[in-house]
Amino acid sequence: MEILKKLAQLAETGRTAIVYGDKTLSYRELNSWSDAFAAYLKREAPEGKAPVLIYGHKELEIPACMFGSLKSGRGYVPVDVTYPPERVAQIAAEAKPCVIVDLTDTLELPGLNLSQLREILARTCAPASEEDWLRPDETAYILFTSGSTGKPKGVQITAKNLAAFHAGVRPFFDGMQPDGAFLNEISYSFDVSVCALYEALGRGMTLWTADRTALENPKLLFEILQKANLTDWVSTPSLAELCVQSDRFCGALMPQLRQMLFCGEVLTKKLTQELMARFPDVPIVNAYGPTETTVLVTGARMTEQMLQADAPLPIGYAFSNCEARICGAEGTVLPEGEAGELCLLGQTVSPGYLGRPDLNARAFFEDGGRRGYRTGDLCRMEGGLIYYLGRLDNQIKLNGFRVELEDVENNLVKVSNIARAAVLAEMQDGKAVALSAYVMLEKPDGEGSLQRARRIKKELGELVPSYMVPRRIIAVDSFPLNTNGKIDKKQLRALRAT
Ligand code: AMP
Repeated sequence: MEILKKLAQLAETGRTAIVYGDKTLSYRELNSWSDAFAAYLKREAPEGKAPVLIYGHKELEIPACMFGSLKSGRGYVPVDVTYPPERVAQIAAEAKPCVIVDLTDTLELPGLNLSQLREILARTCAPASEEDWLRPDETAYILFTSGSTGKPKGVQITAKNLAAFHAGVRPFFDGMQPDGAFLNEISYSFDVSVCALYEALGRGMTLWTADRTALENPKLLFEILQKANLTDWVSTPSLAELCVQSDRFCGALMPQLRQMLFCGEVLTKKLTQELMARFPDVPIVNAYGPTETTVLVTGARMTEQMLQADAPLPIGYAFSNCEARICGAEGTVLPEGEAGELCLLGQTVSPGYLGRPDLNARAFFEDGGRRGYRTGDLCRMEGGLIYYLGRLDNQIKLNGFRVELEDVENNLVKVSNIARAAVLAEMQDGKAVALSAYVMLEKPDGEGSLQRARRIKKELGELVPSYMVPRRIIAVDSFPLNTNGKIDKKQLRALRAT
């Protein structure tokens, strides 16, 4: 794998790989820690290719475990601390890891804790042999995303998928320089963090970490931005929305900034205009891609003309190694300009969800020897430029987090005394800004609405990541139903509005 070769070369440079608070990790340490972890796996882990599950947040040890796993020929499953232990247990049951690294010391699963891991990483070991490294067709990582059944689904990405992503994204990342500074704020559970881990580290840049405390505290975040003197920005638009609330977020804060790339959710014209005014010489790129197609597959620099046009901002052109098709219900390719489902074909398309042939048959397909993915995104294409128009299902993006509303609903009914539940996304300017849950109780509880909401949120928070816990919980006596006996969400929304 190219990244592993690059890390070995960069280990000779004395450069800093990652900054986290007042701690730094050099490329030399990153490389030797990953060798030590690979040696540990080779010696101690059961034979086979089972991945390593890593539960933590932004600890400096995490990338070393990831690259160490790859050096030992295994993939990894990064799970962020926002996932409660119950959800981690579900993921572990699915992924069947050879080792669980628990940097939080909170899981009731056998594994390595932080101090055991540190002891392992500090060992001096010979570099892992290239023969042991992960092969192109093997799974490099599995990312678990929200699944409509209420259980997360694991997207498998191979070394070959990553190599194809690296090739496809080049026009946007090739300007990144070895002495550059890159923001490391995306949780390692999400695909966009691959930009930091593979693209920025692979080019010898320094990652400046903003953890979730910093992301919730603009003062801390701005201190990091000030110190980092970032050259390359990759984030969700949500983070930029938060930043532009302060006048300090402008060229003077990041005078070396080379490019701002946004992805993961709708980039609005309002935000783009604001950013263009504050960073007049910095290209603003809108990029797009599902986890299932390895991070990003389309992108374009936003222009004044696009801002003036009577259409949403485009998500860009398909990368050179990805074919984008707009398809009708039966999978037929629609004429130019018509709206339909965006289907993506190429080498970045995942081999599928782990252990889910049912979902794979629906979401993935083969065409002329190439693998394809049905995104569920309603899009339109004109002259190769793609416009995102919305979802064809109940998946939403909330502050950049991917959430299936049924996932929340299916977990809500596991909370005590809830018979039925429906979750609606609260929309503002076409964007989901919060979740509201409507619940029908099994029996009267005698609780006040505040007390009940608090209890439900707490219980639900033990089942799903914190970002999936609805802001509002409303108890109802009954639900409007459609002819299939399912909750009629359109009517529920209409009733709510009256
Ligand atoms: P994820 O797998 O978390 O990366 O989420 C992928 C989904 O996020 C896509 O299928 C889209 O629905 C949405 N998405 C990603 N990038 C964009 C974008 N630039 N504009 C609008 N929606 C986006």
